[in-house]
Amino acid sequence: MAFGVQDSLPFGRSVSRREGLCGGDAAHVHSPTAGQGIVTGIQDAMNLAWKLGRVLRGAPENLLDTYEDERRPKAAEVLKETDRTTRLLLAPDPITKLVRDLIVLPIIRSEFVQRKLFARLAQLDVNYRGNTLSRHFNSLSINTVLKAGDRAPDIAFRQRDKITTLFELLRPFLPIALVRFDGKTSQDQIDRIRARLRGAEINMYIVAEKDSDSPSDPDCLIDIYGDFARLYGMTGEFFCLIRPDDHIGLFQSPVAEDAIPDYIARIAPY
Ligand SMILES: Cc1cc2nc3c(=O)[nH]c(=O)nc-3n(C[C@H](O)[C@H](O)[C@H](O)COP(=O)(O)OP(=O)(O)OC[C@H]3O[C@@H](n4cnc5c(N)ncnc54)[C@H](O)[C@@H]3O)c2cc1C
Repeated sequence: MAFGVQDSLPFGRSVSRREGLCGGDAAHVHSPTAGQGIVTGIQDAMNLAWKLGRVLRGAPENLLDTYEDERRPKAAEVLKETDRTTRLLLAPDPITKLVRDLIVLPIIRSEFVQRKLFARLAQLDVNYRGNTLSRHFNSLSINTVLKAGDRAPDIAFRQRDKITTLFELLRPFLPIALVRFDGKTSQDQIDRIRARLRGAEINMYIVAEKDSDSPSDPDCLIDIYGDFARLYGMTGEFFCLIRPDDHIGLFQSPVAEDAIPDYIARIAPY
């Protein structure tokens, strides 16, 4: 059993430098207290897999550096927390035991704390805000619930005459862009953005509000239950690129066509 945060978690950066790339317990072994190992390992795997797939098909190799940049701090946090919890649970001295039994454990058993702990331990609140692959441009100052770097929750959409979900659209393990244009954007401009994204293996979907009529365009998604508006808080004109590991990569409001190529050049398998 390993206690304490290791000085150097061996995630690894570059393939060509032959340093190798590690994930799961090979990168961060910690106490099993609080059952964090599998979730942390799966998130490593999701984070690395799509980047590795793109680099092997021609994306810039420094995309792999973002794996360590994003995952190492999360693993270090898990190590620190599990270490602290284990020390508390196995505390040999009577005073710590007393504090644990009379104060800490009753608090943990309260419904409010249990709810908070569930979200924390499931690691659904993990985000990569502020990392180089998370770009948030909100010059319209719309009050978004989610920001670039956040995990994108699943949403049900109507796509022509069937119901689909965000996770279903992400199933080919390629990024997607959810977009809404204002009435002033020309069809030429929309087609140009779509073609540019398609060239980078990114499918673009236009998100329509809850009560919109069903359009015949298969690339149009209707926010059928209003969950997208509620959980994402994205209104008006926006561009929201979601990575294959379910995290928001790029958010723009309004859509800034000129800034899109700079972002997709980092992940495009040219
Ligand atoms: C007692 C205990 C309880 C736990 N409870 C929980 C829990 O409730 N929830 C939770 O999320 N986590 C829990 N964990 C942690 C969890 O089991 C691990 O974090 C998780 O299994 C790590 O998965 P992994 O794929 O990274 O590594 P592993 O599961 O260790 O898989 C590595 C695999 O690689 C193979 N291998 C090793 N070397 C080589 C080689 N040279 N060539 C080829 N193959 C090789 C191994 O045989 C193994 O099959 C617990 C751990 C323990 C010990």
